[in-house]
Amino acid sequence: MHDVDNTPVLDIGAPAHANPIDVAANDDVHPDTAVLTDLDIADHLCAVVYERRGSYSREARAVGPEHQRKLYADHGFTTEKSPLLGGIMVFMSVLDRLGRPLTSLRLSVTDRCNLRCQYCMPERDYGWLPRADILTFEEFDTLVDTFTGLGVDKVRITGGEPLVRKDLPDLIALLAQKSTLKDLALTTNGILLADRVEALRAAGLPRITVSLDTLHADRFQTLTRFDSLDAVLRGLELAAGAGFDSVKMDTVVIRGVNDDELVPILELGQRLGAEVRFIEYMDVGGATRWTMEDVISRKEMLRRLSAHFGPIAAIDENTAAPADRFTLPDGTVFGIISSTTEPFCRQCDRSRLTADGLWYRCLYARAGTDLRGPLRSGVDVDGLRELIATTWQARDDRGAEERLASDGRSTLVPVETLQGEPHLEMHTRGG
Ligand code: SAM
Ligand code: SF4
Ligand code: SF4
Repeated sequence: MHDVDNTPVLDIGAPAHANPIDVAANDDVHPDTAVLTDLDIADHLCAVVYERRGSYSREARAVGPEHQRKLYADHGFTTEKSPLLGGIMVFMSVLDRLGRPLTSLRLSVTDRCNLRCQYCMPERDYGWLPRADILTFEEFDTLVDTFTGLGVDKVRITGGEPLVRKDLPDLIALLAQKSTLKDLALTTNGILLADRVEALRAAGLPRITVSLDTLHADRFQTLTRFDSLDAVLRGLELAAGAGFDSVKMDTVVIRGVNDDELVPILELGQRLGAEVRFIEYMDVGGATRWTMEDVISRKEMLRRLSAHFGPIAAIDENTAAPADRFTLPDGTVFGIISSTTEPFCRQCDRSRLTADGLWYRCLYARAGTDLRGPLRSGVDVDGLRELIATTWQARDDRGAEERLASDGRSTLVPVETLQGEPHLEMHTRGG
């Protein structure tokens, strides 16, 4: 099927494509741009063209490599140029069965952690990934290059606790110099942050998120099993003054644990210039104490915050970011990640790579794709690229939406199962 200028009309993954409107008629389809990386574009990549008529129209085309090269030439793209040109936006990525691009990758650099948060690692004992399986920084680097060649332009380093990984700034330095990445960030629990802020900045880390659930020392200890609130606050303060492009704070809100701290946590964020993101308590693997009763929904958070601050306005953004953002009457911006009660799977462009090289297309997925094996057995970059592209093209995961639709929602994975399969744990997969 071709249109007037002989460009193949959108036919992405046609045999498996259950619902073409997901791509062709969805205004939400990624209005973002990505940096085009390579003129040598493989067949399975798609260029999707949005012509701008007021707002982004819904025109999308899948084009073959020849046409992609022509687009490149016609619009003067260079390898680094932002492709918003002449009212035409182009992004390139392999698309999954629901038309979602592969743009965001979370790298879990270790499964180890120096806290034991109740909502993530509440058990006494854990099985750990074998050390020999843990990817080296060079292996991460190769894999990131392969992913960026398929559309990934955002990487978040996470864990476990990423700052316990030895020499982490070396990995950050490798990633920070990639022109293919337009966003690089790190999520940390902040325990080791005060000592590492300078090294992280020197390595070129642009953005950082610090998880902080309470401002009460005794609660912190109950919640994490460690008496370390002061260390986190020190790290956060130093980070706020260290010149990052952005510092964020992530707060998991749990009924009866910290739901009375929404206001003080937001006020701390205001004082530090850090955007706070409240996260609904999620029934992910590892959250073995989760119950629906403990979840404070996004609606409830907004109700409580507006009771204190006054009317809250939603920011109208069309992004694949997990947090919906809002403004307080004084202009303060904050976010809510409502994966539990109002999931956003339809726009999800995220996948996760564990420290031992298993790649998960969804936080809730039971199985991942082994990339370490092929990498270590000498598969070349094209082979890896093909494996990743075809795996993503087969993706139809909507884990959080399926959880929402399930009856009698309780913990996702029983403790006994987790003990035999650490990859099912949030702290292995990376939040
Ligand atoms: N250790 C680092 C930290 O805590 O920031 C990074 C890894 S942690 C798994 C990443 C994020 O996942 C944290 O912000 C944490 O609060 C969040 N998280 C873990 N378990 C969660 C749960 N059951 N529900 C919601 N968020 C969770
Ligand atoms: Fe807490 Fe993060 Fe460690 Fe999980 S990985 S126990 S959320 S600090
Ligand atoms: Fe994406 Fe899966 Fe999370 Fe849905 S549940 S937003 S598909 S990672």
